[in-house]
Amino acid sequence: IQLANKIAAGEVVERPASVVKELVENAIDAGSTQITVKVTEAGLQTITVSDNGAGILEEDMPLAFGRHATSKINSDHDLFHIRTLGFRGEALASISAVSKVVMKSCADGKIGHQLSVAGGRMEQSLTRAKQGTEITVSDLFYNTPARLKYVKSLHTELGKITDMMNRFAMSHPKIRFTFYADDKMMLQTTGSGRLAEVMASIYGMKIARDLVEITGQTGDYEVTGLVAKPEHTRANRHYISLFINGRYIRNFMLTKAMMTAYHTLLPIGRYPIAALHIKMDPALVDVNVHPTKQEVRLSKEADLMALIEQLIKQALLGRSL
Ligand code: ADP
Ligand code: MG
Repeated sequence: IQLANKIAAGEVVERPASVVKELVENAIDAGSTQITVKVTEAGLQTITVSDNGAGILEEDMPLAFGRHATSKINSDHDLFHIRTLGFRGEALASISAVSKVVMKSCADGKIGHQLSVAGGRMEQSLTRAKQGTEITVSDLFYNTPARLKYVKSLHTELGKITDMMNRFAMSHPKIRFTFYADDKMMLQTTGSGRLAEVMASIYGMKIARDLVEITGQTGDYEVTGLVAKPEHTRANRHYISLFINGRYIRNFMLTKAMMTAYHTLLPIGRYPIAALHIKMDPALVDVNVHPTKQEVRLSKEADLMALIEQLIKQALLGRSL
């Protein structure tokens, strides 16, 4: 079982940022309103994610580290109507196969429990804990030197974690996110629910007053979000963020639709800053394409492209086309 977990870990846990992603998704799924992430040495030494969510019951804690242990899917029907970020029940099993994990949780606001997992051994005890869960992952890849070799410089890895945290903050403006790297605060949001505020804290106060609101819908899709006026350009498309049902996704065609809308407004080789939230029936989106769930397949993609292009053109040119 340990070997199988190590192999599976390769798919889910590519680098420190993948661990941060899985742990924060779990915290969001647990209904948290405050999530704090701390990393040291770009997550290779430690990654700690604490939340104020539902917590995990004492008896469920060891189960959470088993393969295909998910509390989020009960039937095939659920698999095609995914509303939570996690659903494979692989993340904790995979992470604990390639690191040392300590989970503290309190599910009743009173008594805390702790579970340590290292080298396939589990130890459980009582501990002091606030309502919610705190997971610390240490010595990532200590037992998989080959994987460690793929990890790039600390600078690159920290950059990937920071991007991830920025995306989480934009995907959930109602959650108060705090992110520290080696005691330096990298990001703090208020949880006010205002996307403009989150974007200003990520991209700088200057863009705050140059964000234009987008909102519109068709029968299948609802699109809301903010696009920066074309005077705020960037050198790559990294500043375009798309979220479907609260999940950050990458989709070439939708990004292309946005670029088409900006078309003549941007100098060649420059890209906009934008964050769009798309809501749709989960049955129209297949997130089960890749273990990291970032690439998605959409039904009626052309309709959504047309809507996005039209909404952005309207917003930027201030009139309907
Ligand atoms: P998945 O998210 O796909 O269900 P994971 O391996 O990420 O699988 O997590 C396993 C289970 O552990 C979850 O289904 C959930 O019940 C529990 N869990 C993990 N993290 C948290 C958390 N922060 N708060 C509450 N429950 C959690
Ligand atoms: Mg999960």
